[in-house]
Amino acid sequence: MFNLKRALFTLASQYRLEVSDMDLARAQFREFVHQVPLLYFILSCNAAAVSLTYSQFADPVLSSVFPIVLCSIAAVRGTWWSRRKQSVFSDAEIQRHIRTTGTLAVVMTTAFMAWGLLLYSYGDVQAKGHLTFFLALTQISAVFCLMPLRSAALSVATVGTGPFFAFFMLADGGGKMPEAIMLALVAGGMVIILYRYNRTFSKLIRSQSILRQRQAETQKLSDENRQIAFTDPLSGLPNRRALLARLESVSEQSGLGPDSLAIVFIDLDGFKVINDVHGHQFGDDLITRVGHILESVRPLQGMLVRMGGDEFALLIEGSDAAATAREFAEQALTRLTLPLKIRGRALQVGASIGIAVAEVDTNGPFELLRRADTAMYAVKANGKGGIRAYDSSLDEGRILRHQIEREIASGLGRNEFDVVYQPLVDARDFTTVGVEALVRWPGRPAGPLNPDEFIGIAEGSGLIQALGMYVLERACRETRDIEGLRVSVNVSPVQFSHPDFERQVMLVLDATGLAPERLQLEITERHLIDYPERARRAIDSLRAIGVGFALDDFGTGFTSLAYLQSYGFTCVKIDRSLTKRLQSEQKAGHLISGLVQLAKGLDLRVVAEGVEDEPLAQMLKMAGCNELQGYHFGRPASLAQALKMAAPTKQEIAVA
Ligand code: C2E
Ligand code: CA
Ligand code: CA
Repeated sequence: MFNLKRALFTLASQYRLEVSDMDLARAQFREFVHQVPLLYFILSCNAAAVSLTYSQFADPVLSSVFPIVLCSIAAVRGTWWSRRKQSVFSDAEIQRHIRTTGTLAVVMTTAFMAWGLLLYSYGDVQAKGHLTFFLALTQISAVFCLMPLRSAALSVATVGTGPFFAFFMLADGGGKMPEAIMLALVAGGMVIILYRYNRTFSKLIRSQSILRQRQAETQKLSDENRQIAFTDPLSGLPNRRALLARLESVSEQSGLGPDSLAIVFIDLDGFKVINDVHGHQFGDDLITRVGHILESVRPLQGMLVRMGGDEFALLIEGSDAAATAREFAEQALTRLTLPLKIRGRALQVGASIGIAVAEVDTNGPFELLRRADTAMYAVKANGKGGIRAYDSSLDEGRILRHQIEREIASGLGRNEFDVVYQPLVDARDFTTVGVEALVRWPGRPAGPLNPDEFIGIAEGSGLIQALGMYVLERACRETRDIEGLRVSVNVSPVQFSHPDFERQVMLVLDATGLAPERLQLEITERHLIDYPERARRAIDSLRAIGVGFALDDFGTGFTSLAYLQSYGFTCVKIDRSLTKRLQSEQKAGHLISGLVQLAKGLDLRVVAEGVEDEPLAQMLKMAGCNELQGYHFGRPASLAQALKMAAPTKQEIAVA
């Protein structure tokens, strides 16, 4: 059933200026802004034309004053709008302008119509014809200019056509009826066009805004994905992938200028131990904290990333990269060496830092990353805790290392290695109580190499397993028949990484028939901390069958004796660098006697290494050392020579 109230409501709503859909309002406004000056211009021209036609017929107030006022308002408004065509409007301004201009346009066309109708009766036939034409023209142009604002255009069409139609139907005794009907028909046509235009226009705008919204959503999603893919979740820093992407884009730019790019590579020292001892959660906290510390000293033009594990890197772009990198590295090292407090525990980490700076010959940024990594490894290999800048000798060193690795592998197969012995004497009477087995490589085709040089390489490549077992087997076999003689064999903690290490030692003892109590394994603390739990287990099970353990090179590291004693050592060997200082420095004397006191308290035997002369031997004896070892008592040599050179063993004294 026809609902009049609803129909009226729907009709009224067509006249309301709708500004709630902002996308549509903005688009309408953009269109409309360009047409407003035109609308005012047409209005003024028409008013002037009518005024001119009627100046001879009507009262000047009606024919001139009104159009002057109307044209002035139109000129002011028209100019204002044409000046603002390019301005950027806020949403609130757009809403306000749509409302006022829409209303004003309606008010002005209505006023114009009313004026025209008032004037009509004053004119002659020709003037009346003019007026009718201009009124119709004004109304049509106003509707077209207001087209983007449907409700305003509709209002103008209604307020214009309604009175016009009614007036001219009656005017001149019905003589103007055709004009009235024509205009009504034109107005109807305009309203249809108006509706069609607006429907198409708003559809277009809506689909545009939907498209924009989808685009924005897709962009946001891909931004988020990118963010996740390029961020390390633990530290919140960019990750390795982010650095590689950055390097990729740097490499696409034209060549690397010298000093225009630098990479600082940072690797924490001792992180593995902390993780093992305190757990992964603690390790994670430490990584987060280190991330904050590094971020706090990061230079502005630097990109700090977590490479993974306990590795971080800083990429510096721009001039003066070398100086910036060095400054950052120094600050980072200082800050990372200070004690930290995590979950209520105080601890100290350190860092090995490598720097690589773009040089004339640097083959792209990825080469720079490799160089920084190489420099960092060089610090690690040299005892950790330091900064090193890359230079080509590091690569040469690496190539040499690879070559030596291959030589060790083939040398083991060809029996190129030998074992020599150095006596250990009792500090009270200087009689030989034991020997230390030391590996030699006399058969190396490329010339002899010190154990200090090739042991590290064997450790790095895993060859130490085979080499270590070879020395152990020979030492046990060769000394078995010398009653009462203790034999010390060096064991690299890397050997503990082999799960079968204890069993292999037991097999060697079985096979050679050496009593386990006569074997002492020497371990340096430098690598011990890399395998804390494995080392502890290996030491425990071998000690259970009577094998002794000496802590080698004591005094070169920084670990506390009490901590090391928790590993179950039976002996400490004071490093020869410390023994050497005894003659020249009083402080070293105090240090050694303090150490001896401490060791005795922990039930450890103390051996001093590197004793090269009699006075030193006497001093060490006075300091309370149990045993002495050094060139003064015998250099490493064949077993027979070693025993001959040194003082007679206790066994020999007893026999004599
Ligand atoms: P180390 O265990 O501290 O061995 C003692 C080193 O000091 C030996 O050097 C020895 O020749 C030297 N030395 C002994 N007395 C004196 C002295 O009075 N003055 C001076 N200046 N030096 C003295 P070498 O044989 O060159 O061994 C170097 C290092 O290589 C050893 O240090 C040890 O850490 C390692 N090494 C040697 N043989 C083996 C082995 O079979 N297995 C493992 N894992 N490491 C070994
Ligand atoms: Ca040793
Ligand atoms: Ca030593």
